[in-house]
Amino acid sequence: MNSPPMRRLRLTWGGATDQGRIRANNQDAMYADSALFVVADGMGGHQGGEVAANLAVRTVANADRSNREQLRDAIIEANRVVHETALEEPELHGMGTTLTALAVSQEADSHQFVILNVGDSRVYRHRDGELEQLTEDHSYVAELVRRGELDNQAAEVHPYRNMLTRAIGVHADVEVDEWLLEPVAGDRFMLCSDGLTNELADTEIAEQLGLGQDPSTSAKALVGLANERGGRDNSTVLIVDVQVEVIESEEANLSSETTDSPTSVITPPNEPNPSKDRSKDLSDRTEQTSNIKERSWLYDRVHIKLSAVVIALVLLLTSAAMVTTIGWYARSSYHVGVVANHVVIQKGRIGGLLWFEPTLEHWTDIQTVQLTEQDRQRLVNGEQMSDLDDAKLFVSNLRSRLIKGADGN
Ligand code: MG
Repeated sequence: MNSPPMRRLRLTWGGATDQGRIRANNQDAMYADSALFVVADGMGGHQGGEVAANLAVRTVANADRSNREQLRDAIIEANRVVHETALEEPELHGMGTTLTALAVSQEADSHQFVILNVGDSRVYRHRDGELEQLTEDHSYVAELVRRGELDNQAAEVHPYRNMLTRAIGVHADVEVDEWLLEPVAGDRFMLCSDGLTNELADTEIAEQLGLGQDPSTSAKALVGLANERGGRDNSTVLIVDVQVEVIESEEANLSSETTDSPTSVITPPNEPNPSKDRSKDLSDRTEQTSNIKERSWLYDRVHIKLSAVVIALVLLLTSAAMVTTIGWYARSSYHVGVVANHVVIQKGRIGGLLWFEPTLEHWTDIQTVQLTEQDRQRLVNGEQMSDLDDAKLFVSNLRSRLIKGADGN
């Protein structure tokens, strides 16, 4: 008795990435093997974005990931690794990355696709000429659109359109969106960074994907189009075509399997065993780092707010310290002067300093008419003394020189 025909999942893929025309380097990263496809878009000054994207992708690629739980755990682990690295390395502080993945997942007795996403890189499905975005962007603007507070047109020009609300490595914990899909023959998946979708409309992407070119050619064409439209960001495209073969042979009684389709940019042609050190599948497509940071995190806004508070506190404390110092200086000395025709000792600088006015320390019975002309002239502007004893000694000396008989009456 013959076994019923079995279905075998066959995937072919190809990808392309480019730094674009503005950026000095490529902070996108991608990875592909027979069961995992990942695109990451790193951000962060200095080398942060490049490090974050590659670290995250490598962590996921090297993890156990045969089912959706393991895949989700791998992304959570990637978040931990990026976050802790950022904390340990001052020059990488604040780095983060998006990460979107399509993977073959063993679910019960069949293989399915699982899509996982953090950030605003995207997974699309092209089916029967229609392009559908499967992932939801974790961006401030996308959330406004989902809540009905902004339409798509306004979102495209919104000043915060590139501000992420969720990313790998920014916080100690991360929430991962995931979807499970049944493999359908003829489906074409596209993973991409926002460098593509910010330059091309969905209709243009759909048109290109529908030309029937092989995945690698199609991916390169899309990246080329993004550059033609300005190439304002790194752009990365990874395309996966789904074929389902019917296997008649009992020997081929596999519920599903995938076949590698090495491309020039994704997978080395002679990869002996994808389960061993998959990180070497990652080519060095990301180049030197850039300080250009077109996008920002919502996290950055919080950070900026916190920084502003810290700066305000520092300024406040500095101001308080300055006021205290000036106050101490203004009030630390004495001077001998004249008030209401009497010689007095006052605490503070002659004429005051800023808002620190001198205060009366000691009233004497010596009147200016009793002073010699020379002493009177000396006291017109006051005599600054370093301390109260000096001031008292000065007054004592004045008293010894008073004009006899001149009592002011
Ligand atoms: Mg980008």
